[in-house]
Amino acid sequence: METDVIVGLEVHCQLDTKSKLFCGCSTDYRSDGPNTHVCPICLGLPGAMPVLNKRAIEFAMRVAKALNCTVLHESEFSRKNYFYPDLDKAYQITQYDKPLAEGGYLEIEGDEGGEKRIRLTRIHVEEDPGRLVHMGNAERGKYSLVDYNRAGIPLIEIVSEPDMRSPKEARKFLNKLRATLEYLSVFDSDKEGSLRVDANISIRGSERVEVKNITSYKGVEKALTFEITRQKNVLRRGQKVERETRHFLEERGVTQSARSKEQEHDYRYFPEPDLRPLLVQSWVDGIVLPELPDARRERFMKEYNISLNHARTLTGDFKLANFFEKWAKRYKENKTQKIPKLEINQKPVLEITEQGTLFIYPSTWVADTLIGELNYREMGFDEILSGNFYEQFADLIGLIDEDKITDKSAIEVLRLMLDQRLKHETLETPAGIVARLNLIRTEGDTSTVTTAIEEAINGNPKALEDYRAGKAGALNFLVGQVMKKTIGKADPVELNRQLAEALKKREV
Ligand SMILES: [Zn+2]
Repeated sequence: METDVIVGLEVHCQLDTKSKLFCGCSTDYRSDGPNTHVCPICLGLPGAMPVLNKRAIEFAMRVAKALNCTVLHESEFSRKNYFYPDLDKAYQITQYDKPLAEGGYLEIEGDEGGEKRIRLTRIHVEEDPGRLVHMGNAERGKYSLVDYNRAGIPLIEIVSEPDMRSPKEARKFLNKLRATLEYLSVFDSDKEGSLRVDANISIRGSERVEVKNITSYKGVEKALTFEITRQKNVLRRGQKVERETRHFLEERGVTQSARSKEQEHDYRYFPEPDLRPLLVQSWVDGIVLPELPDARRERFMKEYNISLNHARTLTGDFKLANFFEKWAKRYKENKTQKIPKLEINQKPVLEITEQGTLFIYPSTWVADTLIGELNYREMGFDEILSGNFYEQFADLIGLIDEDKITDKSAIEVLRLMLDQRLKHETLETPAGIVARLNLIRTEGDTSTVTTAIEEAINGNPKALEDYRAGKAGALNFLVGQVMKKTIGKADPVELNRQLAEALKKREV
């Protein structure tokens, strides 16, 4: 338990508006050439006046409300003064002592189990600076290019209290935050660089270190894990942890000392003279929030009778939740579907540990099987959303429904479908794969199954003995043996029934 670890995060998220925060330039710049989405305002040319994007403020208020913050009725923009090549006007318009919102919290599944509340300090709105492209690597590149397409993209910075106690909790916080922002339709996590994190981390009783500009979800957990080890080693050697800013070098998985931390007063903040104070009192009350991850999780558990863990997984990603729900509804509404084993309220009919665990109901098919296979291939859920994957997946499960293939064969087909996507090969239909691999279930071919059952029982007298002695594993073992013999083509439910019958006969 890393209870002496203290982590707080500052998360910068790009709001998914159509135009920039203070001008009409399009935010859809990623596939275009450098400096093609710029104007006098986002370039900060003399005399250019910022005009606030109403939509961006509305998005920010939605986030603030969803995260239980208090939206301040009057907030203010300030200039944060510093020079950096990606900030050619030498100040960033941000919010300082009067942010948009204060307080609030986000609930995550804590390391100790159960819900844990991570308190928030504030949320403020600011503009993104431009972007530097280092030619060569950061240390030895000959020159850098500046692209101002990103300059002026609306950002919110969400600052947490130091309530997280491990890298894992930090990752859960970010995942939950990402899900919440996507449910609110204000954020697109697929867009490169749409989320950047600064992490404050310390070992209790020591100075804190800020790790700047971590650009991936995995990077946060890696950077924190590295930093904890580094700081503990410093303390173990009897030295002091210096208060400093460090950079995370993602490709090497290490943090590196950057510069001594500048103090807030170094930035010479002052109120932005070209923008009025932001008054939102009547506006904020009118904002209606959509269903958020926690509410959807509770509803999924009730409506589809699925476990807390499944509900958590399925609602932890907006697109995944939609995928599952489309699916689950289809099952609920389609009363003509005869297959009891795929009914939502059914517990798993059978679990076969020898071939890996097989459950057979929809939440398992999505939350365990599909997600498990994706994780194994390090594929994101987004990677299967293009094309007609949903239909193909539904077709695949349809084949199980119609008793054409067994669950085990279906998993094999699913694996091939995902492999084909991963390798960008021509995609086959599930039915095509089934035909090619001859996976059609041995319908009516009970003699094969019967023979296999007899062989399994006769060949494993110990298992028969165990079964008679009431040992729970014996039946599963025998089922596994039969599955092996029938190369997984026998239907587990039917097989289970026949096996039980055969064993009963032997009892006489
Ligand atoms: Zn512009």
